[in-house]
Amino acid sequence: MTADSNDSGPSWLDEVPERLAALDAAHLTRRRREVRPAAGASLWVDGRQMLAFCSNDYLGLSQHPAVRAAAIAGAQRYGVGSGASPMVSGHSEANAALERELAEVVGLERALYFYAGYATNASIVPALVGPGDALFSDALNHACLIDGARLSKADIHRFGHADLAQLAALLQASPARRKLVISDAVFSMDGDVADIPALVALCERHDALLLLDDAHGFGVCGPQGRGSLAAVARTGARASRRVLYMATLGKAAGVSGAFVAGSRVLVEWLLQKTRSYTFATAAPALLAESVRAALRAIRDEPAHLARLHANIAAFRAGIGPAIEGTGWTLLPSLTAIQALVIGANDEALRVMNTLADAGLWVPAIRPPTVPEGTARLRIALSAAHTPEDVATLLNALAAAARTRA
Ligand SMILES: *Cc1c(COP(=O)(O)O)cnc(C)c1O
Repeated sequence: MTADSNDSGPSWLDEVPERLAALDAAHLTRRRREVRPAAGASLWVDGRQMLAFCSNDYLGLSQHPAVRAAAIAGAQRYGVGSGASPMVSGHSEANAALERELAEVVGLERALYFYAGYATNASIVPALVGPGDALFSDALNHACLIDGARLSKADIHRFGHADLAQLAALLQASPARRKLVISDAVFSMDGDVADIPALVALCERHDALLLLDDAHGFGVCGPQGRGSLAAVARTGARASRRVLYMATLGKAAGVSGAFVAGSRVLVEWLLQKTRSYTFATAAPALLAESVRAALRAIRDEPAHLARLHANIAAFRAGIGPAIEGTGWTLLPSLTAIQALVIGANDEALRVMNTLADAGLWVPAIRPPTVPEGTARLRIALSAAHTPEDVATLLNALAAAARTRA
């Protein structure tokens, strides 16, 4: 705009620089790094090589030769973009095959493949419930479930993290005819696992539906990495028609996208009613082909999952001596997410910076992402880490513990 334009009066847009400055003053500005893969679990980060403990690529499959080859072959066969919504001409043969394979892997009747997990949850929740209905949401649920809940305009009842007694009381007290319980299956900041059989039992008792977000469990938990629901198949939880299972494909599966699976009729309803499915361009076939290759790798090459679990066990076995006397605590977790709670924000940042000086990238997570006073390192382990990488991390943590202020 030029000065003589008639758009010269005061505007709220003039406040944006001040608002950015206020974020900065509160130490809330986020900065991105420019990265490129280096060897193993290392990354080039702004031109410097670092050993990364921050990736959700839990099985290292984003670098798998067969997964890369499938992406290239998929592009050769189908082109790069899908060209349209799945409701028009975007539903490729590859996407259809992937949906059948995903349903089989998790042991449910039918699956629907989405381009992203965020869009899936933000949009399937409003497809399931609306004004006058009731939603019950774990306090530590991922942002996209929370946003889906808000978009639905249903009444939202938040229960304390994993507090099933409170959930039972809220379900009992609700007069709503349609009730939906939403929960992460593996919680993204703590790494703990929801009590799925108990959640299913509560939903059966109160005529509710359960939506599980297994973004961090698919590929990691259960037999052959089939996910947190398959992990409790013995209990009958998977057989319940009251379960919708959602997982993402950009974490352990190493690619991108997401899916929701459940009974034939519920998935058909979501196909008809989910706005981010209808009004968005379908995921490209080259990504579906890549995920299919990743699923084959998960099934046929159990060494990836075995390496991840060996790394988790080695880390947990070594952490006690490394941090003795600090008051830091490692939260219980059998998943790839290992949360080391340090407490104060500045102390967590100091440890993060000490590790960074040693060439390790371990993110500190601070309030409001986690509760006040529980600033932590969120350590993500992967099959791409070697036993030496885990030892390097433990040694660096021990050194940071010794130099405490
Ligand atoms: C990452 C994540 C998502 C979002 O999935 P994207 O495919 O990355 O959009 C949803 N839920 C949870 C719990 C996540 O961690």
